[in-house]
Amino acid sequence: MTMPSEGPLVLGIDLGGTKILAGVVDAENRIVGRSKVSTPAREGPVALSGALIQAGREAIEAAGIGPDHLAAVGIGSPGPLDVEAGVIRSSPNLNVIDFPLKATLSEAFGVPVAVQNDVRVGGFGEFRLGAGRGYREVLAAFVGTGIGGCLIRDGRIVTGVTGNAGEVGHLIVKAGGPKCGCGRRGCLEALASRTAITRRVHKALKKGASTPLREVVKSKHSRLKSRELASAYRSGDPVAVHEVERAARFLGLALGGLINVLGPEIIILGGGVTEAIGPPFVELVRNATRSQAMADPDRLVRIEQAELGDDAGVLGASLIAREQITHPQNVHSG
Ligand SMILES: [Zn+2]
Repeated sequence: MTMPSEGPLVLGIDLGGTKILAGVVDAENRIVGRSKVSTPAREGPVALSGALIQAGREAIEAAGIGPDHLAAVGIGSPGPLDVEAGVIRSSPNLNVIDFPLKATLSEAFGVPVAVQNDVRVGGFGEFRLGAGRGYREVLAAFVGTGIGGCLIRDGRIVTGVTGNAGEVGHLIVKAGGPKCGCGRRGCLEALASRTAITRRVHKALKKGASTPLREVVKSKHSRLKSRELASAYRSGDPVAVHEVERAARFLGLALGGLINVLGPEIIILGGGVTEAIGPPFVELVRNATRSQAMADPDRLVRIEQAELGDDAGVLGASLIAREQITHPQNVHSG
C-alpha cells in the first residue's frame, strides 16, 4: 500500500462491460488503494448499483482511509450518457435504461460525482498522465472488443453539440462493408476491432485455413482474446498476420483522414489489441496512417502507444472528479 500524499483524495471508477475497476487516487495522481469487481452484466440496475458501491468501498478500504476522507468521485461509463445529469441513457450490455449513475454514487459516498463516457475518460487519463503528457491536441483510439476514441483540443475533451463526439470507431471506412454493432455498415469498428478480426478468423477456418487459432476458437461462438491473437501473430501464423495487417490498414484509413482534418500533435493508440501485440502493431498502424495523411508531409504528428494500460480509466475518472472540485465550470466542454 502506498501512503497517500497530502491533499484531497478522490475515487476513480472505470465501469466496463466485464469488470468494474475502482481506485482511490491521491493529489499526486497515484492510486493508493484499488479494487476490482465483476460487472453484473444483464442483471439490471439494482445489481449494478450494488457492484459499483462495493467496488468503491473496497478501494477505500484498501487505501486504509475512512469514507469521509473522500472529496469526490469520478466515473467513466459506457454510453450513450446524459453527462450533465449523470445518467446512462441506455446500455444493452449492462441491461439498464436511464440509470442514475451520479445520484447512486453521490448518495452512497456523500460527495460530488463527475460522469463521463468511459473511452473519453481513458483518453483524458492518457492525455494528462500517459503518452499524451505535454501535448494539448490529442487524438486517442482504443482498439479492443470495439474501437473507442477521444479527441482533446486545447487540453479539453471535445464532446461536441451531441455530447458524443470522438466516436472514431464509427467512422465509415468501407462503404457497404460489414455490419457494425451500431447498425450501420463499414464502420472502422466492424473492420478493425478484435470482434471484427475474430469474425474474419472464423471465416478463414471455415474455408479450411491451417492456423494454430483453430485450437483457440473451437466453436462458432468462441471469442478470441487479444493475447491469443498476439501470440499467433508473433509466431508468424499467416492467418493472424494477414488479419492484423488488414485491421491496421483500416485503422490507417481512419486515422490518416483524421490527421488531414484535425492535425493533432499526437495520436495515442491503446486498447487490448494494441497492448497485446505492442510495438509491431503500432508500427503497422503508424505506416498505414502516414500513407493516408496527405496533410502531414513532414510527419509532425506523433503516433505512439498508450502508457497507462488498465489504469487509464481509473486515473482519468479521478482527474475529472478532481476537476469538478477545483473548477466546477470546466468539467464539461464543447
Ligand atoms: Zn458503427
